[in-house]
Amino acid sequence: MSSKAVFLDRDKTILLPDGGEKYIYRIGDFYIPEDYIEALKLLSKSGYLLFVVTNQSRVASGHLTETDVNELHNYLDVILEERGVYIEEYAYCPHNPRGTVPPYNIACLCRKPRTGMIDALAKKHGVDRPRSWMVGDSDIDMIAGKKAGLRTVQVLTGWDMYSHYADYIERDFAAAAERIAAEGVRTD
Ligand SMILES: [Zn+2]
Repeated sequence: MSSKAVFLDRDKTILLPDGGEKYIYRIGDFYIPEDYIEALKLLSKSGYLLFVVTNQSRVASGHLTETDVNELHNYLDVILEERGVYIEEYAYCPHNPRGTVPPYNIACLCRKPRTGMIDALAKKHGVDRPRSWMVGDSDIDMIAGKKAGLRTVQVLTGWDMYSHYADYIERDFAAAAERIAAEGVRTD
């Protein structure tokens, strides 16, 4: 039996930068609004598996290590599980062809807007793509989602331009989750 899923961009989609931080590197650089926790629960309750798919190309530029990325995801997993939210799997792309740190400075297949992360997760978990969604703040998230055969929702908490590849545009992740839950009921 195939499952339906929501693929979530991480930074400026489900995690918001705290204070004056521009990038989210480590624990302490971000916060999750209370209504985003409820939004994640709503998606689970609506039958969606949840995946995080995030570009972390600052590994390739030496600002971050894979250990930092994994530590943040492990921490996130703990605080979300305490609140009753279960992320099925966290996928990240550490690459950037313009990076300086081997072996990460390559043109890979996983860096969004490429679809490698979504493809691998969809295959592994038997995801039915037409019933599934990508949520993110940036154009590259929307392009990746469309190329992967998903429906897309852009949230306006990061990037301030509308993506032509967004099926829906919502003010933030809480509104995006309500949109997905409603559309899922209507169309699935
Ligand atoms: Zn990659």
